[in-house]
Amino acid sequence: MRTIFEADDTNAVLLIDASNAFNALNRSASLHNIRVLCPPMAIYAINTYRQPARLFVIGGQELESVKGTTQGDPLATSLYAISLQSLITQLQVSSATKQCWFVDDAAGSGSLLEVRKCALGGLGIANTVKLASQEYEVSVTVTGPLTQRIIHQDHHTPDEADNNAAKSQAIATKKREALKESEVRKVLATGSGLASRLKPNNDPNKGEFRDALKLRYNWEFSDIPNRCVCGDIFDVDHAMTCRNGGFVIQRHNEIRDLEAALLSTVCKDVEIEPPLHTSQDTRLDVLARGFWERQKSAYFDVRVFHPYADSYREKTSEQVFKQHENEKKRKYACRVLEIKQGSFTPLTVSTTGGMGTKCKIYHKRLAELIFIKKCETYSTTMSWIRAKISFAFLRCALLCLRGTRKKRKTFETLATDFFN
Ligand SMILES: [Zn+2]
Repeated sequence: MRTIFEADDTNAVLLIDASNAFNALNRSASLHNIRVLCPPMAIYAINTYRQPARLFVIGGQELESVKGTTQGDPLATSLYAISLQSLITQLQVSSATKQCWFVDDAAGSGSLLEVRKCALGGLGIANTVKLASQEYEVSVTVTGPLTQRIIHQDHHTPDEADNNAAKSQAIATKKREALKESEVRKVLATGSGLASRLKPNNDPNKGEFRDALKLRYNWEFSDIPNRCVCGDIFDVDHAMTCRNGGFVIQRHNEIRDLEAALLSTVCKDVEIEPPLHTSQDTRLDVLARGFWERQKSAYFDVRVFHPYADSYREKTSEQVFKQHENEKKRKYACRVLEIKQGSFTPLTVSTTGGMGTKCKIYHKRLAELIFIKKCETYSTTMSWIRAKISFAFLRCALLCLRGTRKKRKTFETLATDFFN
């Protein structure tokens, strides 16, 4: 390819790498091709691939393997190569590009015009050159209100009305272009517009979503009180740490309850606030049986901290996580082992969604247990857990920020009822 590229009549090289190629091969098409192009191999290929292979999943489920070649099949490479032969021939006929194929990697070189023909010769690749200018226009329209504010160095986020107008304008532009350009239509009509990508999970409402964005990007909140009931200046950092109003405790309890709920899907005897000792009033956050080891009690204690609090200013986040984990371990690990012969795991999380080492290991184990039980994949389970946790964090952060800290009579009576 290098020699071809250096030749005088070559302007460009096109490199193609098929994604997940071996698994995506259409079997019936490839068997047909093999029968025509390589009859000696056809009988073997037909015998191995005509019927879908049965794949057995832990937990009694069964899948059918209907696409692609089998991993480890010594003939997989040849099968794949022969199956692609008709595509290669078609490209050779339609373009004068010099081609070189190795399994799922391809290179083509020649004059720009010829390479272009090759790129659009039925590989299903959208013409990014054409798409780029439209996508750019749309993104300029959508971000218009924000851009104006950045130019004027205004730290307030754009109004909802401005945003909506920009969005609908962008969608209209897209639709118009899509009608005009039949080639581009397929890509745009899939509903993957900017608006739908911006839409979050249905959980938070509009105001909450805006708050979440502001928290995420550290934008200023214009509509929160200046002073807290405790007398301090009220900002996001203060909202996350001020104990007035009981939100800090509620945040801890919400995370605790979520972990207990997750644990109860895979463990027996899940208990919230189990007493460590009958005579003492020491309680841990969660108890679950059979989490790390069969039948063994596992105790967990949740700590939520705000990493931007003044006291952590001099430390790295790893140090802060370690500090909290060690504090909890010192306090409980030995006693849990002595009194209950169980294990102890500190679940240290930050208000921004970070996790301590032990907490990460715990979530990995949890995902393993859940995915074995529910016959899901590990990655689906892990992202499901992550989503659950991040929404819990978001709810807690919004509660700390928007919850009223003013003392009300009703609140006091409620609080005493609740804690007794
Ligand atoms: Zn306060």
